[in-house]
Amino acid sequence: MLQVDVRELRYGPVETCGKLGPGDPLFEGLAVPLEGPVTVGGFLETAGHGGYFWHGRFEGRVRSACRRCLTEVVMTVAQEVEVVFSADPELQEDPSVYPLTEPVTQVDVRAALREELALAVDLFPLCREDCRGLCPRCGADLNFGACECAAPAPIPDA
Ligand SMILES: [Zn+2]
Ligand SMILES: [Zn+2]
Repeated sequence: MLQVDVRELRYGPVETCGKLGPGDPLFEGLAVPLEGPVTVGGFLETAGHGGYFWHGRFEGRVRSACRRCLTEVVMTVAQEVEVVFSADPELQEDPSVYPLTEPVTQVDVRAALREELALAVDLFPLCREDCRGLCPRCGADLNFGACECAAPAPIPDA
């Protein structure tokens, strides 16, 4: 469950687990090209002062293009998150606090999941640390070897 009834939290932490498909409406409008579902784990607990702590984690796979050579790369994004949900107006300024509206009947961790996922994804990854990229002149993928442009200019015949 990713939406937890606050009454359940009176008895202690509640597990938050779920699996959201890449087409889930939660991810609509996010510039995160998901490749397969996002699995969610962790637990939610009361934090006093009407707040709730979410010790969550999620994992998914994202498809993007290497920022140097534009080769498609599929990467695993796995992240642990520690976020606070609160209806306290004094805490709403804090960007790490996710707002709840009174009366609080449930805590929906999906709002945090959406944002934390967007933050966790490197939209400009490298296919590998030493990717050589493309030649700025001819566009050849230099991972496959030097292009003509890289060859030293022929010495003109005297
Ligand atoms: Zn690359
Ligand atoms: Zn070239």
